[in-house]
Amino acid sequence: MQKQWKGKRVLVLGAARSGLAAAAYLTGVEAVVTINTGSEPSADERTKIEQLGIKSVFGSHPLDLLEDTDVIVKNPGIPYHIPLLQAAMERGIPIYTEVELAYLATDAAFVGITGSNGKTTTTTLVHELLKGGNRPVHVAGNIGFPAIEVASKAKSDDIIVIELSSFQLMGVEAFHPKAAALLNLSEAHLDYHGDFESYANAKGNLFRNMTDADRVVVKRADAEVMKRVPEQLTAQTFGYEVGDAFVEDGWITVHGDKVIQVSELALGGAHNVENVLAALLLIEPFDIPRSHIERVLRTFGGVAHRTENVGRILGRSVYNDSKATNNVATEAALAGFESPIVWVCGGLERGADLSSLIPAMSRVKAVVAFGETAERFKTLGASHGVPAFAVGTLEEAVPLAFEQSAEDDVLLLSPACASWDQYKTFEERGEHFVDLVRKYEEANR
Ligand code: ADP
Repeated sequence: MQKQWKGKRVLVLGAARSGLAAAAYLTGVEAVVTINTGSEPSADERTKIEQLGIKSVFGSHPLDLLEDTDVIVKNPGIPYHIPLLQAAMERGIPIYTEVELAYLATDAAFVGITGSNGKTTTTTLVHELLKGGNRPVHVAGNIGFPAIEVASKAKSDDIIVIELSSFQLMGVEAFHPKAAALLNLSEAHLDYHGDFESYANAKGNLFRNMTDADRVVVKRADAEVMKRVPEQLTAQTFGYEVGDAFVEDGWITVHGDKVIQVSELALGGAHNVENVLAALLLIEPFDIPRSHIERVLRTFGGVAHRTENVGRILGRSVYNDSKATNNVATEAALAGFESPIVWVCGGLERGADLSSLIPAMSRVKAVVAFGETAERFKTLGASHGVPAFAVGTLEEAVPLAFEQSAEDDVLLLSPACASWDQYKTFEERGEHFVDLVRKYEEANR
């Protein structure tokens, strides 16, 4: 579908990477583009905007911008409650996110993946699996290039695998993927959406234009997910215990077909088994050779910082799950191992209730907590009756975790907290952890 942008007056909100990519695309298709940011852009962003030769307004969102606007394309991070967007809605000016723009820019097929947890892992796995087919495949979103950049280069026979946040899904209208999965729903981003219903409904937007000619994939055991499947659609379901794809006698089984044993998967953890099941349902319509599927499942060890297998270090299986910044993600990681776990956790204090972690702690043999929440995690561990320690930093936590573990144990960093008390990003925290683990190995060989 190629929408006619020529002469359309488009207001692009936000000058980060995806905003700039949107502005560049729209300029190329002869729209009349204005770019507007609430704060001052960086020097680099300024230069790029100047090179595009478009009108720019920095530092605030003046309402009179709407006088010359037919369509708004907004960065998913900008909330709808700002006065400019409220006024635009009152006037009936369409507000799209980049995903809608990308969809309108190409005839390539989209495979969309959303959910509260597991998006990046599943998106990356689906991309790897689809590479085995005969259609060129691209990945877009958080882990790849901005969607509009990918879409504007894709050919009509190509496939674009895209990770979608609830923020992006609020701004879609025509977006119609050929295959889409809603992996799970738990409370997240309530500060942005206000309440669970509006967050969950935004995720449900994924399916709004899909038909039974498409592939709709959902988790059977998640009632909130199931509620978001439009009545007229027949969904394919997955789940560890039950679904069109599930685990039967230790085998990943899709529509009765035994694909591979769970023990042969390179990915670790029960939550990742669910991601695999969802991925296999998503790719089923694309005729991928069996040998390729098996090879990918045997070798794809996950995306960095997401229950990433760091390797066997001094006899321990070490995992970096720095991306686990909330209870639900950490619960999944803790519940995913059979061996005793020495659990390294803690980080930014947000006042979260930690009690939901308790049922997932049955294999935890020691807790080593660091950062702002260290004392609270120590109390949690002690209440569970295992050795529990509160230290300041990962430098102290890593050696202590090795000392508390024995051969064949799992040593897991899964913080259940954001990293911002001590690090700029969860990636930086995860890299520091891996680095400290390697140094400990060197020193104790
Ligand atoms: P997202 O992109 O949705 O944040 P990731 O694939 O980056 O998801 O994984 C983030 C964290 O969520 C992982 O570190 C893991 O602990 C947890 N996780 C991954 N998949 C699932 C799942 N299917 N269910 C629950 N938790 C999961």
